[in-house]
Amino acid sequence: MDLQAIDIDIQGIVQGVGFRPFVYQTAVRLGLKGIVSNTSDGVFIHVEGPSDGIRSFIDGFSGQLPPLARITRLTQTPATIFGYDTFQIASSVEGIRRNTLISPDVCICDDCLKELFDPTDRRYRYPFINCTHCGPRYTIIDDIPYDRPHTSMKGFRMCSQCQTEYDDPMDRRFHAQPNACPVCGPRLFLHDAHGRPISSPDPLEETIRLLREGAIVAIKGLGGFHLACDATNEASVQALRKRKHREEKPLAVMTPDILTARRFARIEPEDESLLRSRQRPIVLLEKAPGYFLAQSVAPANRRIGVMLPYTPLHYLLMHDAFSALVMTSANPSEEPIVFRNEEAFERLAGIADRFLVHDRPIYIRVDDSVVLRTDKSVMPIRRARGYVPAPIPLPKELPHVLACGAELKNTVCMTRRNEAFVSQHIGDLENLPSYTSFLFTIDHLKRILDVEPNIVAFDLHPDYLSTRYVRELPDTFHKIGVQHHHAHIASCMAENGIEGRVIGIACDGTGYGTDGTLWGCECLEVDYRGFRRMATLEPVPMPGGAAAIREPWRMAVSYLHRLYGRQLLQLPLPFLKAEPSDALCTMIERKINCPMTSGLGRLFDGVSALVGLYSRVRFEGQAAMALEMAAEPNDTDKPYAFELRMHPEDDLLLLSPGPLIEEMVGDIVGGVSIAAIAWKFHQAVVNGLAEVIRRMRERTALNRVVLSGGSFQNVLLSTHLRRKLADEGFEMFTHSEVPCNDGGISLGQAVVAGYRFSADS
Ligand code: ZN
Ligand code: ZN
Ligand code: FE
Repeated sequence: MDLQAIDIDIQGIVQGVGFRPFVYQTAVRLGLKGIVSNTSDGVFIHVEGPSDGIRSFIDGFSGQLPPLARITRLTQTPATIFGYDTFQIASSVEGIRRNTLISPDVCICDDCLKELFDPTDRRYRYPFINCTHCGPRYTIIDDIPYDRPHTSMKGFRMCSQCQTEYDDPMDRRFHAQPNACPVCGPRLFLHDAHGRPISSPDPLEETIRLLREGAIVAIKGLGGFHLACDATNEASVQALRKRKHREEKPLAVMTPDILTARRFARIEPEDESLLRSRQRPIVLLEKAPGYFLAQSVAPANRRIGVMLPYTPLHYLLMHDAFSALVMTSANPSEEPIVFRNEEAFERLAGIADRFLVHDRPIYIRVDDSVVLRTDKSVMPIRRARGYVPAPIPLPKELPHVLACGAELKNTVCMTRRNEAFVSQHIGDLENLPSYTSFLFTIDHLKRILDVEPNIVAFDLHPDYLSTRYVRELPDTFHKIGVQHHHAHIASCMAENGIEGRVIGIACDGTGYGTDGTLWGCECLEVDYRGFRRMATLEPVPMPGGAAAIREPWRMAVSYLHRLYGRQLLQLPLPFLKAEPSDALCTMIERKINCPMTSGLGRLFDGVSALVGLYSRVRFEGQAAMALEMAAEPNDTDKPYAFELRMHPEDDLLLLSPGPLIEEMVGDIVGGVSIAAIAWKFHQAVVNGLAEVIRRMRERTALNRVVLSGGSFQNVLLSTHLRRKLADEGFEMFTHSEVPCNDGGISLGQAVVAGYRFSADS
């Protein structure tokens, strides 16, 4: 017989996910001998036996792996035959442990779910059931290697039954670090509105009863607390909004299953697989005609954010009890999600009527992820639970970089060799708790990735807290500033694995430009190292600076003023009368607090106010979103059009909205519907950008177009632009891994800094 021995090194997510038992079982099935063990870098296998058996063994790694396992690198080398007489799982080898990967948190698996509702199972109705194929990971780890003492399960000593499962390579719970049962594991507790413990024989049943009666309960989940209430109870939902000071922003709901979800939301097969995916994100869906949830869940919105239960606790909560619960991140207004029990009692006082908590600590806060499906792909809106910290492969190996992200929707990113690790959504860095969370996340990532980057990337905006953080680091760090829109495009390039030069279209509300003005409709020739600005939206004053973001009517006046001067005050537009338009004109004329902006988001805001949708908003992007929702596509209306002209001094093409605004004013006065106006405007943006891109192709001979920036969350805009250009033979690239909004900025910054540093040194 032809005997052979091979050493195999495997890297990826291969620890704590049932990988060694998988290897063991495969080897035993094929009658092979040898050894498998965890190492510093992943998993090491020495296998011996007949060569065809070894071939099948290796083929097994490209087939069905354990659900959470992911191989990023597999190397095999011929080895000496030692004559093993069994195949064994050896204990872990501790070492320099540079390349281990931690799995994201994943939803409960089918096997555990079956046990959860099986009255004969010892874990029947146990809210913390899990195994190597499912359960918490990232949120309970504070260091590597991924062993129980480094997790928040370290305080729970396994009972003998759990320990037996843990030690048995043939068991589904072999080395399942969070393994627990009702005898030895975490438990639920109920607390009153003041955080005082309430003795209750069954905290879960009590919670269900309270929610049914209309109460608001803070419920501790996987990555933080949710505020929950019955989504069909209008009074409860309104009370929640009032107490949380969240007037209009849509609230997400959890629903027990797809069947129930279909009763209030439209679900295509692709949506269904997203909802059911292991990551269990919140999926933004169109409301269905039979929508019966409280109107105030997602007021003035065609869509609703829906998720399925993902922890055993959620399943127990939803089971036979509710058709939908509002499950919104528990945080007072704009602060980060609450994740510690004591913190919850304090910060959610006055919001929650009761607290359903447990004693398994959460080490790092992680929000629910949010995704939106477009015709072709999945668009991440918020990347967090379920996706983080899975790596994004880079086009090549880079030096280790820490990128600090932008101000709003902040994330940070760390690179390690040829992979990038984008943190979970941290939030808007506008208050101390968010900033603290930012610092904490950086430390946590350094620890679990075991890297200490000394290249640090930051946004050029001098006032961002993330920028200040970098400024205050010692000068031993290499600090590399990356322009906001360059970072957007680089981010999309990186996740698509492309190199070289591209046409990059970065559209958003605001990003600091290299000339100190606020950019936001940037048509750039880009590679990772640099960019050339070739076209943009004609800049206009942004009266009051940031105030114009909260009050879109200011942008409307700014656009009108450019066209009509003070005569604008004579226009018969209702919003002008309702606001101090006169004073704003003076501000514009005297250039008082009027930074210049070329943000596409600001134009959307202005148009939204102009047509009478929103003069003032509760959250950024609300006005622009309303305009998208209002638009009704049709083939008959003649679209508006931008005027294209060259900048008088710079070699820069300008998209001027002058004629478009004039025609629009005529339509508004003439009584044309908002639906038609909004559609004609969307087409104008699509056609205007398409024309710019054609001209850029003529000048640069580039054919690859990369779309990024928060404006492309507008599905109407992104799908129509992508289709149009694809039809004309352009190669189109969009986001599907990280958000096109500022949540994706850190990835782009990291890659740009990495390439620049490599070029410089
Ligand atoms: Zn499981
Ligand atoms: Zn136990
Ligand atoms: Fe941006």
